[in-house]
Amino acid sequence: MSEKRVYTFGNGKAEGRADMRNLLGGKGANLAEMNLIGIPVPPGFTITTDVCNEYFEKGKEKVVALLKNEVEQAVKHVEGLMKSKFGDVENPLLVSVRSGARASMPGMMDTILNLGLNDKVVEGLARKTGNERFAYDSYRRFVQMYGDVVLGMKPVNKEDIDPFEAIIIDVKGMRGISLDNEMNVDELKLLVKRFKEAIKQQTGKDFPTDPMEQLWGAICAVFDSWMNERAILYRKMEGIPAEWGTAVSVMAMVFGNMGNTSATGVCFSRDAATGENIFNGEYLVNAQGEDVVAGIRTPQQITKEGSIRWAHLQGIDEEIRVTKYPSMEETMPEIFAQLDNIQAKLERHYHDMQDMEFTVQEGHLWFLQTRNGKRTGTAMVKIAMDLLHEGEIDEKTALERCEPNKLDELLHPVFDKEALAKAKTLTRGLPASPGAACGQVVFFADDAERWHEEGKQVVMVRIETSPEDLAGMSAAEGILTARGGMTSHAAVVARGMGKCCVSGAGALNINYKARTAEIDGNVIHEGDYLSINGSTGEVYLGEVTTKPAEVTGDFAQLMDLCHKYSRLKVRTNADTPHDAEVARNFGAEGIGLCRTEHMFFENEKIKAMREMILADSKEGRERALEKLLPYQRQDFYGILKAMDGYPVNVRLLDPPLHEFVPHDLEGQRVMADEMGVSIEEIQRRVNSLSEHNPMLGHRGCRLGNTYPEITAMQTRAILGAAIDLKKEGYNPKPEIMVPLIGIVNEFDAQEQVIRATAKELFEKEGTEIPFKVGTMIEIPRAALTAENIAKKAEYFSFGTNDLTQMTFGYSRDDISSFLPVYLEKKILKVDPFQVLDQTGVGQLVEMAVKKGRSTRPDLKCGICGEHGGEPSSVKFCHRVGLDYVSCSPFRVPIARLAAAQAAVEE
Ligand code: PEP
Ligand code: MG
Repeated sequence: MSEKRVYTFGNGKAEGRADMRNLLGGKGANLAEMNLIGIPVPPGFTITTDVCNEYFEKGKEKVVALLKNEVEQAVKHVEGLMKSKFGDVENPLLVSVRSGARASMPGMMDTILNLGLNDKVVEGLARKTGNERFAYDSYRRFVQMYGDVVLGMKPVNKEDIDPFEAIIIDVKGMRGISLDNEMNVDELKLLVKRFKEAIKQQTGKDFPTDPMEQLWGAICAVFDSWMNERAILYRKMEGIPAEWGTAVSVMAMVFGNMGNTSATGVCFSRDAATGENIFNGEYLVNAQGEDVVAGIRTPQQITKEGSIRWAHLQGIDEEIRVTKYPSMEETMPEIFAQLDNIQAKLERHYHDMQDMEFTVQEGHLWFLQTRNGKRTGTAMVKIAMDLLHEGEIDEKTALERCEPNKLDELLHPVFDKEALAKAKTLTRGLPASPGAACGQVVFFADDAERWHEEGKQVVMVRIETSPEDLAGMSAAEGILTARGGMTSHAAVVARGMGKCCVSGAGALNINYKARTAEIDGNVIHEGDYLSINGSTGEVYLGEVTTKPAEVTGDFAQLMDLCHKYSRLKVRTNADTPHDAEVARNFGAEGIGLCRTEHMFFENEKIKAMREMILADSKEGRERALEKLLPYQRQDFYGILKAMDGYPVNVRLLDPPLHEFVPHDLEGQRVMADEMGVSIEEIQRRVNSLSEHNPMLGHRGCRLGNTYPEITAMQTRAILGAAIDLKKEGYNPKPEIMVPLIGIVNEFDAQEQVIRATAKELFEKEGTEIPFKVGTMIEIPRAALTAENIAKKAEYFSFGTNDLTQMTFGYSRDDISSFLPVYLEKKILKVDPFQVLDQTGVGQLVEMAVKKGRSTRPDLKCGICGEHGGEPSSVKFCHRVGLDYVSCSPFRVPIARLAAAQAAVEE
């Protein structure tokens, strides 16, 4: 651990750099870097992420003592550059205190502005600036933020508004004004007084007057916010480790609220929702940063073009736009030109889309932050491909810029055009995060979570969202807000999550207490259906039908790049022709696992299947199997046809027979009638199949070995279907796989049945089909003896679901009873059934591949457990030399990208 805990920056110099983000956090590292490349940034210092870990290990007091000297020196450094003094009554320096982790976590942790003010300093600030209104506006904001973040002031009930907001409404009401910036000095002074009283009343604490005490309180609160609920949840969703910690950046304040030549804003070098190469953003005159994101005042657009587009969406005509909501390009053309220059420079410097915060203080532009912008999956792909075409990045970088799991968003359904044309447009907001969402209206985050858990699809409707709403946003299909622009909390977070979001639908009147929203006389109640289009901002009453997404344009180009770079192939797990087709359209090169048991569950088939299981003689079973054969042959025909020309790996029957028999009286009666035996006899046979531990019981090849006639029937169906297709001119490539092998003899016996059946069938049909016989490797003993098994089996497919179950000894079906505790206590970092355990289970995979290829050098190896679609597991499969992974159809593009990245990383 580095001994230096504090890194200063300012005036074109910095102790840090962009590549120090692990230590300084993204914000701290970029503030340093911006200084180094000549961008105007207020001076300040960053306390490292290591200190955050120290803070949680050693506690507050020890860490404050360790930091004291360095922080005091750093404050002096800022005072020197700003020519003012922290806490000084005549010439005060004020600072902001901001969080900043290695990975950006927008809005999850806390920020405090205007720190250093008290009853005396505020007067000094008023004198120094000659602007009393500004001084008291800054002071009331400080008390409000500090009260919220450091002193923990929160609404008492969820239907209540923020306690400070309530006071503001009250004070504004005294003179009947509606906007915050209409308050006069006396009203602002009154706010400060009443805020402090409310703090004392609710928390029992006095507001601290000593600026140094304020600073330590704020620094510690930012560290504490690393462990707040929403930050923990966000880290969980994004897979960010708790050990990374947050840095704290303390920076001299510059003020956007000093009058009409001052402003503050947020901007993006490209469109974060669509990825279009359009500079865009929002600003407010005479305001501070939080006003833009909080959604209290309507933010204005930075560019004229954006402003015209915005006004159109909001139904505002040009005259009103120009007078009430002009763009920065129109009101501050010189500042706009500087801003535009710097944004372009920053994008070129980082070779990626930038999300920037700035403040204009009395005509002087300052940058407060830049970071690689959060973006939707669509924007991620478009930006990567555009930067590639613009020559900013190369192909490998373009591949690495895309996050495999985020491709999921591009596979979501979109509104059906015809249905959309008929739908009733209720209102319109801003297209904050694209996609189609439809669901029942809820107004609170906890309801969104609860309803979602009950299996309902919900659209969360809020006046605006706050970080507390994170879990609800994640549970909802989409988010609709009445207030807030394209950079509001709802918009930014929804884009990061890939959730559909319409923000700032101003016509919406929400009443939390009544749980209703009113739009032009239509009243929407909790539970009513709404559909929202995050790509156009449109809101529709009722449910609008959707259709599946397609792989076209930039997405298709990205997939071509994946094809060019990857070595590992991607197949799919599919048991129906439809799934096989979907996967093929997504680029699957074959079926890695067709689970035949899923094919027996439909009406007539399940009857024949039950008859087969409940039969008490070989003859009885064979009679039932004869009934099943045509169904199976037809099923395999469809699948082989859908995957024509590609290998289709069909697994013989796997699960315990007990799963197929009727457990209800009615079902048992039907079977008794069907088979001409008594119901008691049926019950006796059903009971005889019950097992204490079915996962380790009579399943897999144990079924085929006890009832070889099942294996024979399935072989006839698979190869028979292939012969039919061959006769029609298709090119079927069947593979037959034996499940749950632990001993090579188990495989041997099954292979003999398969080969003998095939020989007989080929003679009867007068034609032959080339096919392979392979095995699942999903029992540790099979992995340990892989060299023997490979002498017989032509290929291996790792069933990492069972292999995980049997390596850990965790039942696949029962892990939920202890997994949450294990995750919470960090005994396990992740669920091993989702993310392959590379050290344990992975070792078995790697070893089995090596051992298998020692006796059969051309042994094809793949994986078909759930891990085949999980990016880190896919990369592992590449590294240990598997030939392919197989995953569910909708994960195919994700696995393809992960496979290409694995090759590039090599
Ligand atoms: C496995 O065990 O990983 C596998 C793919 O088979 P199933 O999930 O059907 O047991
Ligand atoms: Mg299995």
